[in-house]
Amino acid sequence: MLAPDKLKEKFKKVSKENWLFRTFLKGQEPDELDRLVNEMHKELFSKMDCVACSNCCKTIVPVLKNDDILRIANHLELSADEFKKNYLKEMDGKWVIGARPCPFLKKQGCEIYDYRPENCKEYPYTHKNEIVFRLINLVENCEVCPIVFEIFERLKKIYKDEFKEYKRQMVASNIIRPWKS
Ligand code: SF4
Repeated sequence: MLAPDKLKEKFKKVSKENWLFRTFLKGQEPDELDRLVNEMHKELFSKMDCVACSNCCKTIVPVLKNDDILRIANHLELSADEFKKNYLKEMDGKWVIGARPCPFLKKQGCEIYDYRPENCKEYPYTHKNEIVFRLINLVENCEVCPIVFEIFERLKKIYKDEFKEYKRQMVASNIIRPWKS
């Protein structure tokens, strides 16, 4: 699997292809796509040291629900208002962690791991169903999470011939220009 610090550079090289692959995946059988992604999630997370990576904690801005706010504030022995004032900011009417990297990220990992927001627990959502509705997020997360990047690379191999044909048709219909990948 790709090292977390190599991800941005590598993603630049495949981003055009990954965005096109996303439109291709939208036309695939959703249950089969869920099965493939969920299986890869299981295998890849069993090998990954998330503490050593922590890319999502440095990049993603998790949204906190009321339950998250109350649980974490309680753990920190703060009132919900104090917690909001010290750690959160409002964005589009939602409460999000106010700084990146996350202020709770320490050398040894997440300081509030057992109390962390639901959004952090679920990230990168590759264990969930209805992957077909999460494809935009998944392409964006190819730049953040080595596991999502790897899942995309594997999917491109699995659907290699069908994707090649899809690309050919898109070029033939002048929807995209050919490029070397
Ligand atoms: S979920 Fe992905 S980005 Fe976050 S720490 Fe684990 S491997 Fe890294």
